[in-house]
Amino acid sequence: MRRVSIFGATGSIGQNTLDLMSRDPSAYKVVALTGGQNIAQLAADAKRFNAELAVTADPARLDALRSALAGTGIDAAAGPAALDEAASRPADWVMSAIVGAAGLAPGLRALEQGATLALANKESMVCAGPLMLDTAHRHGGRILPVDSEHSAVFQALIGEDLEAVERVIITASGGAFRDWPLADLAGATPEQAAQHPNWDMGQRITIDSASMFNKALELIETKEFFGLSPDKIEAVVHPESIIHALVGFNDGGLMAHVGPPDMRHAIGFALNYPGRKALPVERLDLVALGQMSFRLADEARWPALRLAREVMAMGGLSGAVFNAAKERALDGFIEKRIGFQQIASVVEAVLSRVSANAGHIDAAITLDNVLQVDHLARVRANEIMNDIEG
Ligand code: NDP
Ligand code: MG
Repeated sequence: MRRVSIFGATGSIGQNTLDLMSRDPSAYKVVALTGGQNIAQLAADAKRFNAELAVTADPARLDALRSALAGTGIDAAAGPAALDEAASRPADWVMSAIVGAAGLAPGLRALEQGATLALANKESMVCAGPLMLDTAHRHGGRILPVDSEHSAVFQALIGEDLEAVERVIITASGGAFRDWPLADLAGATPEQAAQHPNWDMGQRITIDSASMFNKALELIETKEFFGLSPDKIEAVVHPESIIHALVGFNDGGLMAHVGPPDMRHAIGFALNYPGRKALPVERLDLVALGQMSFRLADEARWPALRLAREVMAMGGLSGAVFNAAKERALDGFIEKRIGFQQIASVVEAVLSRVSANAGHIDAAITLDNVLQVDHLARVRANEIMNDIEG
């Protein structure tokens, strides 16, 4: 029986992971499940899977979690120290599906235990790619990508020589506003941005899809995960979301990973790796699909993509600055403090202010330095949003 923990169990990825596990319950011993605000879901799943431990990130909800688990023998805990303790418990396979930079520390701790880390939390790679890979390497752990594009690239690279890779193309649906006239974007609301045309995901990543900040993070994630030079990495808009990524080799061949937009494929691939098992995902009917289309990922329409190029060129801790600024600007947009197009302006301004001090970007990529620069970027983003609000 494999010992499994899920960080962010109550979210979209976490729930899809539990859905797959529930189809073969005798294969897994659940160690820890973690959540945030959704105590009812966390407690219900902890009971259903007989977890050893349930953790809420929010200390104010510990009493609620304790009472929901009373009499079950399942430990309840809360806060960052409890997340750290949960990640320290020996597990064979750990799903990293907390949203945001908050997912970094537990993922690193799990890697220190030598676990296989199924990484949905792309922010970990963006903020601290070299640290993640090095931690896995030093402790005999392994990181498997769960982001659909990166799972696709990973699968296309099996048995291949990275030296022969000429380019990697990741696809983008274009998000909620891909067909909107540019002039209308200024008035776009969070509610409109949270409607994804193809994928059913958490609110934050769905809005990031509309702004292309999700794709921007994924370009950086591709560079960090596969160690590719930025000029080999491209994004293309593919409204049907059927091809998830393509790998181009030096003989001109392109290997595409094709499938319906259902995260249970990428999650299940990571869960069953290195084998493959049947998964409950729709089988594509190519004739019914009829055609697929592609469009330019226009950096003028989506400045996030241009900023991602700048971050890939800058390296160091610029990814952590970029991500933290984006997280705060996204909060500002959700709270209606700033407009949709100001998300990118805020991130750009934070990047330029923080990187003006080379010491902030060039410091060693350690967890402490990432957290420090993350904090600084959030403070700067708040200042800039206060200025915008006047
Ligand atoms: P959700 O918002 O659906 O879920 C996020 C999870 O993290 C929930 O369990 C939430 O708890 C918990 N959480 C939120 N804030 C914190 C915090 N500060 N500390 C600890 N836990 C917290 O997100 P998704 O499942 O959509 O995404 C998770 C990660 O996977 C993200 O990094 C995303 O980019 C990535 N990803 C997601 C995809 C998808 O299809 N959804 C596709 C590819 C990547 P609660 O809900 O109880 O408050
Ligand atoms: Mg993705």
